[in-house]
Amino acid sequence: MDYVVGGRILNGSDFNVITGYVHVESGRIAEIEERSNVKPDTCRASGIIMPALINAHTHLGDSIIKDVPFSSLDRLVKPPHGLKHRALRDAAPKVLIEAMRRSLLDALASGTTMLADFREGGVVGANALKTAIDSVKKVQVMILGRPGNGRDYIVEDEIDTILDIAHGLGVSGSRDVSSSSLMAMIDKAQTRGKFVAMHAGEKDESDIDAAIALNPDCLIHMTYASKHQIESGIPIVVCPRSNLVTGVGSSFRHPPIAQMVQTTIVGLGTDNVMLNSLNMFAEMEFTSKAFLRDDRKVLEMATLNNARILGIADEIGSIDLGKKANLLVINDRSNNLFGTKNIISSVVRRARPDDIALLTHGGRGA
Ligand SMILES: [Zn+2]
Repeated sequence: MDYVVGGRILNGSDFNVITGYVHVESGRIAEIEERSNVKPDTCRASGIIMPALINAHTHLGDSIIKDVPFSSLDRLVKPPHGLKHRALRDAAPKVLIEAMRRSLLDALASGTTMLADFREGGVVGANALKTAIDSVKKVQVMILGRPGNGRDYIVEDEIDTILDIAHGLGVSGSRDVSSSSLMAMIDKAQTRGKFVAMHAGEKDESDIDAAIALNPDCLIHMTYASKHQIESGIPIVVCPRSNLVTGVGSSFRHPPIAQMVQTTIVGLGTDNVMLNSLNMFAEMEFTSKAFLRDDRKVLEMATLNNARILGIADEIGSIDLGKKANLLVINDRSNNLFGTKNIISSVVRRARPDDIALLTHGGRGA
């Protein structure tokens, strides 16, 4: 159905504020019309119009456990015996799928229409996520699979089958499997033109150089990246709230986001659902207040940069003609936002899911 939304628009890749209307036809942005004022009664929704949020790093599988105790990173998530891996092994498939489905609905309710998910559990794990995605039509998920738990060798067929189902690989770390297996696995993915993402430098810098040498499409965390490691130019997805919970980034100097944004493309993710909600508003608020103090840049990280990193910036991530109409209309007359003038700062530092007036999705297909 074609429609119009109106108000203050965060327009284009610079998020320049203009007043007017966004016309949507067949799920795409057909016209951006500048006007001196907007008549709300002619619009499907009105307020602040911004691109829908993108979450560039999640682990939906651990939606089966919530509010885990404060503990070390290794005890929580290290394969194969960390808390999450034990929980995943014990989970009934139905329970796992339902927990992931609920999380996808929560992502939508908090303004996110696209996620890139590290899916554990091999072929079965990737298929379980696919089943969950099929039941939540308005959200798009990049599935980044990996071999089944507890393996330090690669079963050729398994990787092939995972790559048939998934969009690429989500590698837990450059030292979690043998380097020859890792190289073989990544080579297979890259030969097939699939996406490769890798955790690196989450609790110290010791696994970063090996990760960079494998030339993945993006590195996740880089909490302890040095200047020359950042200068490798590989895009980085930071997850500062996750680093805070696991205690690896509690100084607010790690990850070094201010240095990163000078040098490479930096995106934002919420990481494990067992550690954090999928609320990207919370991630933006924390990143801007604790790390960057640059609201426009943080907004870019959560939208266009995440799209650039995932290779879909020609389709989503900003309000530009011809892109999919994945739009978020924020109610600027809510009690929280009433009277806002600097709308980029308001969206990044104080908007909440309950300020959402409308979330639209232009469809999953190209
Ligand atoms: Zn992760």
